[in-house]
Amino acid sequence: MSDGEGARAPSLWLDPPPQPGPALEGDVRADAVVVGAGFTGLWAALALRERGADVVVLERSYAGFGASGRNAGHLTPTIGKDLPTLLRLYGRERGGALVRFAEAAVEHVEAAIAERGLDCDYVAAGNVIAGVHPGQAAALERVARAARELGGAMRMLSEAELAERGLPRFVACGYLDERGGVLDPGKYVRALREEALRAGARLYESTPVDAIAEGPEVRVETPRGSASAPHLILATNAYTPRLGLLRRAVAPLYVSLLATAPLGAEQRERIGWPGGEGIYTAHEVLESHRLTADGRIVSGSRHVRWAYGERALPDREPRTFAALEAMFRARFPELADVAAERAWSGPIAMTLDFLPAVGRAGRHGNVLFGIGYCGHGVAQASYVGTLLAKLAVGEDPGHPEIVGRRRVPMPPEPLRTLVARAILTTLQALDRRTDRRARPRPR
Ligand SMILES: Cc1cc2nc3c(=O)[nH]c(=O)nc-3n(C[C@H](O)[C@H](O)[C@H](O)COP(=O)(O)OP(=O)(O)OC[C@H]3O[C@@H](n4cnc5c(N)ncnc54)[C@H](O)[C@@H]3O)c2cc1C
Repeated sequence: MSDGEGARAPSLWLDPPPQPGPALEGDVRADAVVVGAGFTGLWAALALRERGADVVVLERSYAGFGASGRNAGHLTPTIGKDLPTLLRLYGRERGGALVRFAEAAVEHVEAAIAERGLDCDYVAAGNVIAGVHPGQAAALERVARAARELGGAMRMLSEAELAERGLPRFVACGYLDERGGVLDPGKYVRALREEALRAGARLYESTPVDAIAEGPEVRVETPRGSASAPHLILATNAYTPRLGLLRRAVAPLYVSLLATAPLGAEQRERIGWPGGEGIYTAHEVLESHRLTADGRIVSGSRHVRWAYGERALPDREPRTFAALEAMFRARFPELADVAAERAWSGPIAMTLDFLPAVGRAGRHGNVLFGIGYCGHGVAQASYVGTLLAKLAVGEDPGHPEIVGRRRVPMPPEPLRTLVARAILTTLQALDRRTDRRARPRPR
């Protein structure tokens, strides 16, 4: 697989990479300072402006540089490790509230796309959670049952419906999560940037925040200036611990994706998949597969990389990319003549309980944060951005099941890495076993 011309772009979606806007020079003041211009930060800025607050956004690179411009674009109400675990841990009431939070997040994005006319190639076809062998059907039934108990909109697909939908043949069984679909995350994050600017947010790009001084008025230092405000909003997701904050709240995990060349009409026909549903597999460390507007397949997740402490891992890692290509070839043997054109990576922020960390920090309670979406932030981060804006202006954001909830701290290093590596090794062994049993649907 060659990185080719795209080698310097962060992903398929942002190629060529956007030119950053102006950097911060001098000292500025606002009602709120937002650090990070991904989904969380841009939505926080937009929602603050719509409430009349003056807002400054500081972004180290350019809007979408982080996970928001690199993800696979599945818009899903996925929350927690899985729904049976959510039900067991939290019961019907709180588990149901968590499911409603995740569904509200999807609805929030869908409403924004429709009402604001965000151009992001959204296909509202839902997402299928697929077993790769028929023996997985019973476990998938359990998930669909837990979903029903928690009020979620998931249902098992019968064999007839799998065939009718013409899903790729590696989908041996599966359920459909009817909410959501797939979008182009690069277009979505850039459209949000435009919306925030149009609403009057002051965005400074190429502006890393180096230091934060707390107080009733928070002041952040950047290389050539500073910004202060009564509220600081941290929208730095997996990068947050590197700021020296919330170190025990999240840990970064690096996720990679590959994109094929655009499929020709005949190649497209070979795989079917006319509805363009997003597909996740029911592996312990799931795989994701989707079609793009220009007829590529974007596949990945699965082969993740763990980082020790706050260490940043390289974006490009040939061994991981080779493993992804092998995974893609195993799922789509009928596309042996399609090139895997490029691959890229980005960090997601994991929490110990797989729920986002949203709340207030700091001695004065005026450092607000929304991080830790565990790889499901297209919907959640967008929604949490608006909740943070509400918190900052003194509105009730609702969702007490998420906002200000009691969090489970990560163990300190080196224990954290030892435990994480042991868990990942076990899960990967289980997934290899699942793969050995993989059996595509008959034609
Ligand atoms: C490969 C991959 C695939 C994924 N697939 C999906 C998917 O299909 N569906 C889904 O729901 N989720 C997916 N995710 C997760 C989703 O992308 C994230 O949850 C979401 O984008 C988080 O948004 P955010 O704004 O909180 O963080 P980010 O988008 O990471 O934004 C944080 C921003 O903060 C900036 N920043 C960091 N430090 C500083 C600093 N010191 N000063 C100034 N700025 C700073 C960064 O440059 C960055 O732009 C995926 C993630 C990855 C990496």
